[in-house]
Amino acid sequence: MVDLKGQYEHIKDEVNTSVIDVIESTAFINGPKVHEFQKNLENYLGVKHVIPCANGTDALQIAMMGLGLKPGDEVITADFTFAATVEVIALLGLTPVLVDVDPDTFNINVEAIKKAITSKTKAIVPVHLFGQCADMDEIMDLANTYNLYVIEDNAQAIGASYLSKSGKKQKAGTIGHVASTSFFPSKNLGCYGDGGAIFTNNDELAHQIRGIVNHGMYVRYHHDVVGVNSRLDSIQAVILNTKLSRLDAYNKARQSAAKKYNEAFKNEPRIKTPVTNRSCDGICADCDCHVFHQYTLKIKDVDRDALATHLNENGIPCGVYYPIPLHRQKAYQDSRYNEADFPVTNQLISEVISLPMHTELDDEQIDYITSKVKEFINA
Ligand SMILES: *Cc1c(COP(=O)(O)O)cnc(C)c1O
Repeated sequence: MVDLKGQYEHIKDEVNTSVIDVIESTAFINGPKVHEFQKNLENYLGVKHVIPCANGTDALQIAMMGLGLKPGDEVITADFTFAATVEVIALLGLTPVLVDVDPDTFNINVEAIKKAITSKTKAIVPVHLFGQCADMDEIMDLANTYNLYVIEDNAQAIGASYLSKSGKKQKAGTIGHVASTSFFPSKNLGCYGDGGAIFTNNDELAHQIRGIVNHGMYVRYHHDVVGVNSRLDSIQAVILNTKLSRLDAYNKARQSAAKKYNEAFKNEPRIKTPVTNRSCDGICADCDCHVFHQYTLKIKDVDRDALATHLNENGIPCGVYYPIPLHRQKAYQDSRYNEADFPVTNQLISEVISLPMHTELDDEQIDYITSKVKEFINA
């Protein structure tokens, strides 16, 4: 699904040199390189504060701790996402409230959020799934009306932009009150291990969070709040510095692959190619509203699982993200949920299939992949 080795070959000298420099310096944790990456990412995103941490799941949890959410508070998020999002809500004793998604963008459905808001609702967690932003204009409007926090789960859309109705363009993860991201190797900005970060424009919240990631310490050996140990190491930071300077080019390569896939499938009535949200009218030269963390098709009137098997048998990796809705997972079942509330997620789980998507895909690979998909669909 990804070609990390091919990507590494292009940046090998820079990465190897900077990793050895870190080892020679012995500043392994929170050293100057982590600070440098933090500043570089703040500049890239146009956000006041980036707080690096150990992974994207921690980043979400710490964001919620920083906001002071308390057991019993309800947090609304999407039913169709990776489990990390709902896991940290549950771990903190908060009440996850899962809602349905949009059939075109796969992102959280604003009408469904509206219906789920109660007097206990304290936050909304939109997940910018597969590389494009949820409907942030509407979500921020709702949050203002009901006095809710918005925590963007930006693990899959780093580098994407959101064009709001007012014409303002902002980077994903800088629109809500706070955001989290992951630098897991296969993400659009991935390191060579685990890593994550929290973003916010709020000085007070940033201060709070900087203490939480460091055992609740604001003054050495004074623990004012219950914190965690969640750090980014310097080796990951130098790799991220190298890759951040290429992130726009990496995302362009993904968009270019997506465009070629779209073209190959455009006359296939049983294949629905990804839809970009209304902030963009398609994949165009200078549009960055979708950065294709995944390239996900919807397959109609064909056995999706048999297609996956056919691709695998032809040496083509593919993935089903996500095969089971969160509301049906054993750990997150709740009597509040009715199957009738999740018509879209319940359908998507049998239709979606994600094709290989990374920075190193060439035309020959794309031709081979698309021909094998079409061969099966039209058999
Ligand atoms: C990857 C991912 C996470 C978790 O990130 P880790 O670094 O693996 O902890 C959280 N949310 C979403 C949507 C993700 O895709």
